[in-house]
Amino acid sequence: MASFGKQTAKVVFSGIQPTGVPQLGNYLGTIKNWVQLQQDPEAQRYYSIVDLHAMTVPRDPKRLKQETLEMAAALLACGIDTQKSVLFRQSTVPQHSQLNWVLGSITPVGWLNRMTQWKSKLQQQTNGILDGVNEHSLNVHSSAAQGLLTGLFTYPVLMASDILLFRASHIPVGEDQVQHLELARDLTVHFNKTFRTNLLVMPSYLLTATKRVMSLRDPLRKMSKSDANDQARITLADTDDQIRKKIKKAPTDSLSQITFDPKSRPGVSNLLSIYAAVRNIDPRVAAQEMQTLANAQMKEMVAQAVVDEITPIRKRLGELLDDPQYIEDELRKGEERARVVAEENWRQIAQCVGLPA
Ligand code: ATP
Ligand code: MG
Repeated sequence: MASFGKQTAKVVFSGIQPTGVPQLGNYLGTIKNWVQLQQDPEAQRYYSIVDLHAMTVPRDPKRLKQETLEMAAALLACGIDTQKSVLFRQSTVPQHSQLNWVLGSITPVGWLNRMTQWKSKLQQQTNGILDGVNEHSLNVHSSAAQGLLTGLFTYPVLMASDILLFRASHIPVGEDQVQHLELARDLTVHFNKTFRTNLLVMPSYLLTATKRVMSLRDPLRKMSKSDANDQARITLADTDDQIRKKIKKAPTDSLSQITFDPKSRPGVSNLLSIYAAVRNIDPRVAAQEMQTLANAQMKEMVAQAVVDEITPIRKRLGELLDDPQYIEDELRKGEERARVVAEENWRQIAQCVGLPA
């Protein structure tokens, strides 16, 4: 293994929460990219099912366990190859929590207070509780914040620990995670300065071309697993018929030609983006391809492309879910490999900060 401070290898790290079967946005925005990154024979890849992060929104323990299994099955079904990537559950590598404590102990509260994801949770909480509260007046001392859980506030520190524990250099994330990654970068500098070392490796992010797939009911909102309306998303478990129906009902507009213009034509442009992402082409090229089609014909083409992509994944997902022991075995193999690396890296970090190594 390369010694600290001299790393030249490309190390990819990324995590996904086990909060349900992935939707098309997770797949096109993140998972497809994870699969494509496997083509690089030089890189090491760590893909983590971040069950500790998922606990920041409390759920029934049985559900957490089941959804962790489903997420593992979905990742394998999408093409994560355990010969090429280390696939593991975050909680089975205890050094994540240990580094989380060390980093939390040097993170100023003010840094976390600036995080927009935290602020938006806080704002959701204040709606209906306090009138006239705006984002700028919200902070950890606001009365609205008092009911929020500490884990949600310190979430970005654990995320930084995930990345820095594996000395990761490349982090594929969606646009919504860029600010958290900036915090991980700030913590790298802060740790190295505080402990006069060059131990922690500076991570950089890899953004996918499909940063945001929008809802099929309201193209101004992002598609999400937790949307109350299941017509708003396509999941990797949807049947061909469900996929076709959902796309058929997606809002468009009455302009005569198909053009890509997300600002003035969000509905049409979202469908073009989906088609383009599936086919690995630019959405403008997709628009040219479909220029003269009527909306209904365009939707049929988009639906066919999505069906072609998802059908084999859904079938494989079903087979895998029939064999939970196989999934468990695959995860355990990955977890052993992850622990070997994490133990060695943690040993050096512990030594650096004065803990028993
Ligand atoms: P939840 O509603 O539970 O937050 P989610 O659908 O937002 O679920 P996450 O587990 O939070 O999913 O995100 C997993 C990954 O998918 C992240 O890298 C995130 O950036 C990406 N992602 C989520 N939604 C979209 C979307 N609509 N388009 C593109 N990428 C997305
Ligand atoms: Mg999310």
